Amino acid sequence: MLDAVVVGAGPNGLTAAVELARRGLSVEVYEAADAIGGGARTEELTLPGFRHDPCSAVHPLGIGSPAFARMPLARHGLEWLHPELPMAHPFPDGTAAVLARRVGETAASLGPRDAGAYRRLLAPFHGKWDALARDFLRTQWDGPPRDPAGYARFGLVAGLPAALLARRFHGPMARGLLAGLAAHGIGPLSGLGTGGMALFFALAAHERGWPVPRGGSQAIADALGSYLREQGGTIHTGFEVKRLDDLPPARAYVFDTSPTALARIAGLGNAYRGFRYGPAVFKVDYALSGPVPWTAPEARRAGTVHVGPTYGEIDAALDAAVAGRDPSVPFLITAQPTVADPGRAPAGRHTFWAYGHVPNGWEGDATDLIERQIERFAPGFRDLVLARAVAGPPRLAARNANYVGGDIAIGSVAGLRLLIRPKLARVPYATAHPAVFLCSSATPPGPGVHGMSGHHAARAVWRRLCGG
Ligand SMILES: Cc1cc2nc3c(=O)[nH]c(=O)nc-3n(C[C@H](O)[C@H](O)[C@H](O)COP(=O)(O)OP(=O)(O)OC[C@H]3O[C@@H](n4cnc5c(N)ncnc54)[C@H](O)[C@@H]3O)c2cc1C
Repeated sequence: MLDAVVVGAGPNGLTAAVELARRGLSVEVYEAADAIGGGARTEELTLPGFRHDPCSAVHPLGIGSPAFARMPLARHGLEWLHPELPMAHPFPDGTAAVLARRVGETAASLGPRDAGAYRRLLAPFHGKWDALARDFLRTQWDGPPRDPAGYARFGLVAGLPAALLARRFHGPMARGLLAGLAAHGIGPLSGLGTGGMALFFALAAHERGWPVPRGGSQAIADALGSYLREQGGTIHTGFEVKRLDDLPPARAYVFDTSPTALARIAGLGNAYRGFRYGPAVFKVDYALSGPVPWTAPEARRAGTVHVGPTYGEIDAALDAAVAGRDPSVPFLITAQPTVADPGRAPAGRHTFWAYGHVPNGWEGDATDLIERQIERFAPGFRDLVLARAVAGPPRLAARNANYVGGDIAIGSVAGLRLLIRPKLARVPYATAHPAVFLCSSATPPGPGVHGMSGHHAARAVWRRLCGG
């Protein structure tokens, strides 16, 4: 009998598998797709030689992950590449706010009226990433925080809605920058904790950067997979698990799946009937004949570019997706990996990655809306397009069963749902079945390629099996 079987080889499944194998347990991983990675994949989606990330592309949470930091992933091929600027937030007149590595450079880009307010917002937390990341990417049952004073201080600001935090700023640059960062949470800016989302991503840029892995996000999954094999673990691909009986006998089963799929496969009935999926995204990957012709020079040097200038426009786009309305002027999160990693495309060519928010299960085509929005800030963009690969919610869900209705967060993050997921429980990784566990981003600390859900789930499994 095996000690543990992991279903799904996304970043969380692989992290759980590595951490169990590292403790000397026998572990096998079963993955439905033909390759490991889940949300950390890289494929030639458009033309030969263009290596695209269909899901995650930029990794502030990966480079800042306490779980990854304890693994020798560099030895297994993972190399972080930093663009000159982590992020730019351009305006149609050719100006831009920037999220730079230095707080001062970001503050200066926001204009004299808001520079001081930005410095004051960040100052109490600067230089404290390690403690904050550990405390905020943990779970509440993990015991008291390592830095209770810092945790409380950050929590007071982080709990605020972005709408309230934005009132500290006067100009459109700072308010737009804040709204764009909060939009990574895919919920209304009036939601609790959306201010914290913005602050966390800003702090990540100043402390660790927003890098891309050399060769693409697949490098993260491949490094985890290689380390797992070194620890004696086995990975099976092309194996979709439909019933628990499909799997070999094991003392523990760890699911890197949606809670709905887990309930179906493990026969847990209505265990997760209160679980809600959130809005979806519409994703386009481009092969370009040249760099994106941003009017704002700063945007040409950035790894990530937020497209949708003002707080009001971003708020309206998010509200529409949450309320189930068709997109009209989308807010776009875009990435240009070839700015930091030219090897992802043939010489002189570029890959470009973009998504906007749409309602869950939306079946329309947002390609034209997305390109019109990009053209506002980069006139001539369309002339550079050699090929595009489009994935709306149905396609995203077909590629990865976890993205139910195109929800890339595996569950709404609105209100307290980022903290309490998949449901209120002392150990959210445990289930009603004593041998079955959940480790996907449907559990705390939620979405992103950081492996922390896998890390916490592995600890829950270890405690159950070994009483440790
Ligand atoms: C378009 C898009 C953009 C994103 N951008 C970023 C970004 O830039 N930075 C970032 O940090 N995060 C980003 N994310 C989010 C990130 O990819 C996810 O939060 C992360 O991958 C979640 O990891 P996971 O291991 O929980 O699940 P997943 O990565 O979804 O992995 C789950 C795995 O389980 C497999 N599986 C599911 N059901 C079964 C079954 N029944 N049998 C066998 N295998 C099964 C799936 O095939 C998949 O491989 C993005 C996601 C998407 C889709």
